[in-house]
Amino acid sequence: MPVTEKLFETDSYLQRFTARVLSCTPVPQGYGVVLDRTAFFPEGGGQPCDTGRLGEARVLAVHTDGLTITHTTDKPLPEGTEVEGTLDWAPRLDAMQQHTGEHILSGTLHRLYGAENVGFHIGTPYVRMDTSIPLTEAQLAEAEAQANEAVRADTPVHCYIPDAETLAVTQYRSKKELDGPVRLVEAGGDRCACCGPHLSRTGEVGIIKIISAQHYKNGMRLAVACGQRAYEAIANGWADAESAGRLLSAPVGKLTDAVTRLQTGEAQLKQRLAALQNVLAAAYAAAATPGQPCTVWAEGADGDGLRRIALAVAAETHAACCALAPGGQGLAYALAAAPGEDIRPVCKALNETFAGRGGGKPAFCQGSLRDADEARVRAFMTEIL
Ligand SMILES: [Zn+2]
Repeated sequence: MPVTEKLFETDSYLQRFTARVLSCTPVPQGYGVVLDRTAFFPEGGGQPCDTGRLGEARVLAVHTDGLTITHTTDKPLPEGTEVEGTLDWAPRLDAMQQHTGEHILSGTLHRLYGAENVGFHIGTPYVRMDTSIPLTEAQLAEAEAQANEAVRADTPVHCYIPDAETLAVTQYRSKKELDGPVRLVEAGGDRCACCGPHLSRTGEVGIIKIISAQHYKNGMRLAVACGQRAYEAIANGWADAESAGRLLSAPVGKLTDAVTRLQTGEAQLKQRLAALQNVLAAAYAAAATPGQPCTVWAEGADGDGLRRIALAVAAETHAACCALAPGGQGLAYALAAAPGEDIRPVCKALNETFAGRGGGKPAFCQGSLRDADEARVRAFMTEIL
């Protein structure tokens, strides 16, 4: 098979080129086209393949076996002819921003903590990066800050293939053992073996943002955004924070304090509500007739309140009690059994009669009724209890 000349290795900004069609064969997805040279980067090393056009044909995918690059097109191209290739530039530029940013961040994590990059994939919406060792939030924040300093320093990105003697005495990061000529990429103080297309200066990365970090296998799985993607992630996050800030009457930067105050307030309200519902339960129990099963309407009580009322009344009267209030998609109920009795058959009948759902233990059941009103449930309970 022929060796395709890789134009993207010498000029990663080449968007338009001409080449000779060496072969064109039908393949399941269209046609497999081999050119003498190409600017289309094939899928590899975590970076997606380029798309674009070859003459009138659309390039749907690009693959390589290491030597020959094959373009999958939707139309056949005559063998032996000269064809013009055009790349879809926006996705390629995005891939170069993510890829070059990854070099800088991986290099920084390696330099600061000895972390190896053991996984890389340009996904949507973020880039996935796996590290060989666990890292703390503070370590990641420090690496992110230093990587962005390297971006702002706007130094050249250098790609080259050193001779064997030079390579032998050169330190570089690599995911695997390599033999033969090795293409090295220097970016922001890092040196790494890589075949992909990169930006020409670190400044073009714009910004590097670690979006999230989780423990994964022996290290961390990072979601990272660079360039335009980082800008969008930060702009969207800021808009969301501002909108939350308006609801909380707090500026961005003080949201955590505001939410903490809200949570403390909510916990206090829950305590007060529980205390009031206990008072309500005691009042219902005091008003109930001993030995007489009953149904009580407790407008305003929540599920917990209904439970407290039903149990308090049953304990006081030594008879079953059904507590009802608006709730769920209709009425919420709580059923407490007379001591030693099983209330579950009553619960089942209630659910069947009023399109309800719920259940529980012999002494207590709880649920909601979709198709019910107070009067009908009272009548039903009087009959069944
Ligand atoms: Zn690279």
